Amino acid sequence: EDDLSALADIASWAQTELNLTQISDAQVQLISELDEAYQQARIDSLTRLWNQGTIKQILHRAFQRHLLNLTPLSVLMIDADHFKKVNDTYGHAAGDKVLQSISSALRQALRPQDAIGRYGGEEFLIILDDCEPRQAAELAKRILSRVRNLRFPDVAPDLKITLSIGIAGSSARGLESETDLMDLADRALYRAKNNGRDQICLRHSTEAQD
Ligand code: GH3
Ligand code: MG
Ligand code: MG
Repeated sequence: EDDLSALADIASWAQTELNLTQISDAQVQLISELDEAYQQARIDSLTRLWNQGTIKQILHRAFQRHLLNLTPLSVLMIDADHFKKVNDTYGHAAGDKVLQSISSALRQALRPQDAIGRYGGEEFLIILDDCEPRQAAELAKRILSRVRNLRFPDVAPDLKITLSIGIAGSSARGLESETDLMDLADRALYRAKNNGRDQICLRHSTEAQD
């Protein structure tokens, strides 16, 4: 009688252990699915760049580091010129392919520690940690010429794409928040557009007022 009872205990214990293993397998599966879903939710599906929410978070952290370490921080706000015309001329699907090519060209121009996100439809934000505005301007010029030289023989044979780039930089004791930095970049981009597009415009923290 005692042996049977002990065996029953062991059996039920073993059963619980087996169930636990199954639960934990299911949990591991769920966690990895959630992790994947979480990753997907952070990436823009067309361009495979960070999406707007993620790049804003990255900027927030970069700005905190910038304040803490007193290292310079620069951002590039990039907008494709006359993109509506690309869709009107070659169709929306071709426009999508062109956006993908632009995205890869941008990514290839960056250092591993730089971050890039799709900020809007045909707009991109690049965050350059520990980078002076002057260096950022050099990079932006390289990006302009890289993208100017892109060709799209399969989807848009005669198309040439240009970009306008607003650059904003914050030096050791420059701006108070990343919002100020983004405002500067926005204004610089606006100026690059108004000055005729296909160009960069640079604004620093010291000229934040005008
Ligand atoms: P500007 O030089 O002033 O920036 O002119 P623009 O035509 O680029 O600017 P506008 O803001 O008027 O138009 C942006 C266009 O980008 C319109 C929109 O259809 C296109 N666009 C935005 N997102 C996508 C996308 O995901 N795919 C495609 N194919 N087009 C897009
Ligand atoms: Mg735009
Ligand atoms: Mg545009």
